[in-house]
Parts: sequence; C-alpha cells; structure tokens
Amino acid sequence: MGDQRGFLKYTERELPPRRPVDLRLQDWKEVYEKHEHEVLQRQASRCMDCGIPFCHNGCPLGNLIPEWNDLVYKGQWADGIERLHATNNFPEFTGRLCPAPCEASCVLGINQPAVTIKQVEVELIDNAFDKGWVHPVMPSTKTGKHVAVIGSGPAGLAAAQQLTRAGHDVTVYERADRVGGLLRYGIPEFKMEKRHIDRRIAQMEAEGTVFKTGITVGTDISADDLRAQHDAVVLANGATSWRDLPIEGRDLEGIYQAMEFLPWANKVQHGDEVTGPDGQPPITAKGKKVVIIGGGDTGADCLGTSLRQGAEIVHQFEIMPRPPDERAESTPWPTYPLMFRVSSAHEEGGERVFSVNTEKFIGENGKVTKLAAHEVVMNKGKFEKVEGSEFELEADLVLLAMGFVGPERTGLLDGIGVEYNERGNVKRDDDFQSTVPGVFVAGDAGRGQSLIVWAIAEGRSAAAGVDRYLTQDSFLPSPIHPTQAPQR
Ligand SMILES: Cc1cc2nc3c(=O)[nH]c(=O)nc-3n(C[C@H](O)[C@H](O)[C@H](O)COP(=O)(O)OP(=O)(O)OC[C@H]3O[C@@H](n4cnc5c(N)ncnc54)[C@H](O)[C@@H]3O)c2cc1C
Repeated sequence: MGDQRGFLKYTERELPPRRPVDLRLQDWKEVYEKHEHEVLQRQASRCMDCGIPFCHNGCPLGNLIPEWNDLVYKGQWADGIERLHATNNFPEFTGRLCPAPCEASCVLGINQPAVTIKQVEVELIDNAFDKGWVHPVMPSTKTGKHVAVIGSGPAGLAAAQQLTRAGHDVTVYERADRVGGLLRYGIPEFKMEKRHIDRRIAQMEAEGTVFKTGITVGTDISADDLRAQHDAVVLANGATSWRDLPIEGRDLEGIYQAMEFLPWANKVQHGDEVTGPDGQPPITAKGKKVVIIGGGDTGADCLGTSLRQGAEIVHQFEIMPRPPDERAESTPWPTYPLMFRVSSAHEEGGERVFSVNTEKFIGENGKVTKLAAHEVVMNKGKFEKVEGSEFELEADLVLLAMGFVGPERTGLLDGIGVEYNERGNVKRDDDFQSTVPGVFVAGDAGRGQSLIVWAIAEGRSAAAGVDRYLTQDSFLPSPIHPTQAPQR
C-alpha cells in the first residue's frame, strides 16, 4: 500500500469527464474522455488495501484490485496490467461495461464514495495497448487435442483464449458474420467502440485460436459431426431467446425486439451497406415516436441508439417502481445496491416512466400508432392495476427490451442432447460439464441472462474443466462455481 493516508487526503471520487451531450449525440464515439494519469493515480491511492478486501468477493473474476491499485499509484503500469491480466482476459470490456459489483463492495464505500476501480482497470489496459505491452501469449507445449467453442461472446472468447494458451487446438464457431456476441451486435458503439474487440481478436488469432464465422452449429454442421471432429465442446451460445409481450396488437408492424433493432445500428457503424428507406437501417428510430418497454441496460441501449438515429420523442417504460436515490435498505453494503441509476443514454434525453404496464397495442392499416397502458402498484409481490390511471401514448416504433428467457434449444442444444435445469438453462456439474460427457457450458447459456464479467469468469472456469477432462490435470484457474447465483 503506497499511500496509507490516501483515502483521508482525497475523499472525492473523480471520474473522467463525459463528452457534452449535444456533441456526443452527433456521433457514435464513446462517451467518456480520457483520464489524466495524475488524477487516476490519486484515485488509486484512495484504496485502503483492506485486511479483507470485499472487492475481491464482489468481482466474480476475483480481480486482485488492491494490488493493481497500488501499482498504478506507484506508476508501475507494466506490473499493474500483468496483475490484471492474471485474472481477467478482457479488462477492456469489463472496464467499460461492467456495472462494477467490486465498487459496490469497496470498504471505503461504507462512509465515502468508493474507489474508482473500474476506471483504474480500463486505463491500465488502454495504456498497455497504447504502449504495445499486449502480446500474444504462446502455449509452451501442444496437447494435440481439439476443442470446439460454440459462440464468440465474452464466455466463448475467454474459454477459447484459456484453452489455446493451455496448448489445445481451439476453433470458435460463430453464426454471425463477425466475432463478439452481444459485445459486437448488442452493445452500442457509444458504450464500447468495436475496435476494442478487433484488437483482442488479433491477439487471440496470433496465439492460434481459429475463428469460423457465418456457421450455425446444429444447422450448417451437425452436432454429431462437430463432436466427431473435436475431443471436447464448449457451449457458449448465450441466452438469446427473448421474452415477448403477447398482448393484443403484438402482431402490428413497428413492434420489434431490442435485439432485432440494435444489431442494425452496430452494422452501420461497421460500414456495412444497409438497405432501408433514406439509407437508414431497415429498423430505425429516425423521426419516430419511440416507446421502449423495459427499463434495464438493454432499454438504455435502445434509448441512446434511438436518440442518435434522430427519434422525435422517446419514452422508456418500466413496470417496477422508481428505485430510491440512495442504496435501498434491502441491499446493504457489500451487496449490489438497488438504487436509481442514470446511464449515459438517460442523460441524453427521453422520458423514463416507472410503475407502468402496457395493456395493448393499437394500430391503423396494420401499423402500430399508439399503446394503451396503466399505472401499477406492487401488493404482496404482485402488480395491481391502479384504477383510473389508464392512458394512451402515440408510438410508431415500439422496442421490447424485457430480457431473455434462456438459450435457444432447437438445432444445437437438442441436437447434442443436453439436459436443462429448472431455470431452462443448460444443466452442468461442478466442472461446467453438461449431462453429455465432453460437452461443457459457459456464460449465459448455463447461468441465464447475466453480465460480461460473469461470462468471462464462466469461460475461464469452463476452460479449466475442459482442460482437466482432456489432460486429467490443469493449471488453469477456475474463479467460480457453476451454481453461484446470477447477479441480475
Ligand atoms: C443489449 C444488451 C446490452 C448489454 N449490456 C451489458 C453491459 O453494459 N454490461 C454487462 O456486463 N452486460 C451487458 N449485457 C449482458 C451481456 O452482454 C451478456 O451477459 C454476455 O454477452 C453473455 O455472454 P455469452 O458469451 O454467454 O453470450 P453472448 O454474448 O450472447 O454470445 C453468444 C454467441 O453465440 C452465438 N451462437 C448462438 N447459437 C449459435 C450456434 N448454434 N452456432 C454458432 N454460434 C451460435 C451467438 O450468435 C452469439 O454471438 C447486455 C446484454 C444485451 C442484450
């Protein structure tokens, strides 16, 4: 611990400035400006190096947070990234996108604003890439074993990198035209520019991981053929079955799932040709009255995207009541707090409406024109309509951002013959192995809709299971147990 009095000297939490709203709405670049290293070092010095660092427990990856805070404080950036990479394959993803359960459990957070852990993380890795310190890590021996990883989201990428470095021949199969899963086509450019994925993939390719895109396993290659060609399989195919809203009018034109809408905007940012009206993507918010149903992260991503596309007006509906401004009593430190959050997209515009339930969609000539809704109150765990609160709202684009119910079963999963748990996810044992020997599962496919940090932790843990299965021994770390409860 470099500065024993750092947390007493610097009581403020300093984050980098966000670019002005009117400027950032004109482009798709990331919202945060670069942080001065001097400010970051001051922030890192606030870390108390607690006897029991609860941040370790908050982070599913077990990131060695006090160690790299101290190294950043001392200006030892090269050592800092080495300690960070020891537990996290992709800090550039988590440093930008994680809701930071580590900060929620920072001991300083009991009576002061928590250390800006996530910011230290992202600056450590960005600096390392800038300085050319991120090199391929080549395996010291080759095992001759072949592993197929299905899906190239954070879980698949983490599993693939760990297994390649352990000496196995790893092929990642991805049905989309580009690698990255929800990092690529769900999360908008303004939250994470896709160049961060590309430079990490370049490192992985140099290490020997092979990527095959545009291949849907279970359709383009049968489950039997896949198994015959590989000694082990990792299912990292995500929880892509979305939750729908089967109410009157659902079949009207103009009502889409978030994941039918967001990928188009991401494709445009990649420079892909899209064939919609006015050179716009086939589904666009330009000039539309948008209602987003779902108040979570995915809804916020739809909001920021709609505003950048030039929506006329945007409402975001949430059925739950507005959370309190401060940590709710039901989620005391060091748990992840229930509280009102303002994402960068919320700063940019739109109106958030809480405690509201959509009753039906109304349309003309087959197209949605408005929706009918009412307020609700929670009574004994159930939502009850507030009589007399009914209202109608004009809408010609409705985006459903209500979460995901589990992995898609037809094709890949049913073809391989895995069993499912009571939550509808792929069932697995302590080694992340499914009920089919040699077939492992990581990420949202096994734990249900979750977070990037959990997906990486799952990918690392499943890789350790695969390595043990193939070699009867493994030096790969396994940060989590498969039954640890989802954090979302
Ligand atoms: C819009 C949105 C925004 C989000 N924002 C955040 C955020 O800010 N922070 C955060 O921590 N989490 C966020 N999440 C959640 C996070 O993205 C997921 O928890 C995480 O990506 C799960 O990783 P995964 O690797 O398990 O699956 P995914 O990222 O879903 O990747 C699964 C991949 O498998 C591929 N696949 C599926 N079936 C097949 C098949 N048969 N053959 C070949 N390939 C197949 C899919 O195409 C996909 O690329 C967000 C989720 C969404 C939807």
